[in-house]
Amino acid sequence: ATQDIKVLLLENVNQTGRKILEEQGYQVEFLKSSLPEDQLIKKIREVHVIGIRSKTKLTARVLQEAKNLIVIGCFCIGTNQVDLQYAADRGITVFNSPFSNSRSVAELVIAEIISLARQLGDRSNEMHQGIWNKVSAGCWEVRDKTLGIIGYGHIGNQLSVLAEGMGMVVIYYDVVNLMSMGKARQKATLAELLDAADFVTCHVPELPETLNMIGKEQFQQMKQGSYLINASRGSVVDIPELINAMRSGKLAGAALDVYPNEPGGNGDYFHNNLNEWAEDLRSLKNIILTPHVGGSTEEAQSAIGVEVSSALCRFVNEGNTTGAVNMPEVSVRSLTIEEPNHVRIIFIHRNIPGVLRRVNAILENHNIDKQTTDSRGEIAYLMADISNVNDNEIRDIVQDLEMLPACIRTRALY
Ligand code: NAD
Repeated sequence: ATQDIKVLLLENVNQTGRKILEEQGYQVEFLKSSLPEDQLIKKIREVHVIGIRSKTKLTARVLQEAKNLIVIGCFCIGTNQVDLQYAADRGITVFNSPFSNSRSVAELVIAEIISLARQLGDRSNEMHQGIWNKVSAGCWEVRDKTLGIIGYGHIGNQLSVLAEGMGMVVIYYDVVNLMSMGKARQKATLAELLDAADFVTCHVPELPETLNMIGKEQFQQMKQGSYLINASRGSVVDIPELINAMRSGKLAGAALDVYPNEPGGNGDYFHNNLNEWAEDLRSLKNIILTPHVGGSTEEAQSAIGVEVSSALCRFVNEGNTTGAVNMPEVSVRSLTIEEPNHVRIIFIHRNIPGVLRRVNAILENHNIDKQTTDSRGEIAYLMADISNVNDNEIRDIVQDLEMLPACIRTRALY
């Protein structure tokens, strides 16, 4: 029953997320900070659901104590604070919130496009130092200029629409063939994009193929006096080559929100001991440097709360794993789950030959309304909706499934 579900929320996750879980009737304990490992281990033994942000490390050592835990919600983008493989091996599903801040990043990039075109950062810095420096040389409107978007995913898409709203011509490059928003056009190669764009902006994931994707050769291919924006990942742009391109005048400006090394907290950190070229970047004109704030808005935080808590509720109440980062994504829409004499069986198991035959042998005398299964690496996830069963039969089904050697975890929702 929902009131038996115990939830532990750490690190002051957004209130929107807390509210959604409380409204389900779950027992929610909310803490503002993370916990030292010994206290975390003590508490995690009791709970079915845990919600964290980036500071709580859910290592194998911690998770092996989490006997009742069925699901982890990371109220953030990253999931490297969780041992995902170990969690999957124990049948613990992990969710995060990859796309709740896409709009915020797109808006930041729009602000940067205009700011770079008008050298706003420099003018503002000068005024802060008491200097009145009214110039129009090298300052431009963005209307009719070409924006080149590298990586046309969640952020690239939003940006495309916003940029066209300002009268820009939008082109993009992506490894996948994608449908264009508005009048945007896909380019077949990165070189074609770089050749045509006045503003180039990167929105690709961090991958071996995107490491230094914008380097010496790419800066050479860019237009004289063009601009580069990177709010994706620090590894995507070769920064020493960017500095050369800025110094030579090839680029008229740049904006960076992400860096190869980023400090863990706020403070006086942007010096050469963090990244050996930090002082060089700071010395350049018309370069906007921000501390990875692309997704940092109130809206994004509350969207993270809604996105992750909704995924947790769907998982706890219905077993749906859509959006999970370490489990096969399985979802069944059923209206019968709360009807009498119905049960939804969830069987998380090792993906080895012969399991389904044995599962079906256990279920064969029952009336299966729906059944679906999917696998991800070594883990498989099966969902079966069964009607006309009584409590004793449900208990037997669960017991029989748990006896199978491939079983990782079985749940019965009714
Ligand atoms: P997404 O997965 O929705 O889109 C990425 C796109 O890049 C996809 O269309 C994919 O096909 C394409 N792609 C992948 N490899 C490519 C390659 N080698 N060449 C060209 N295209 C390639 O991702 P998203 O949500 O739009 O995020 C994009 C980036 O922004 C990610 O690196 C993410 O980590 C970063 N991000 C930064 C902030 C911030 O605060 N600055 C916030 C959110 C996301």
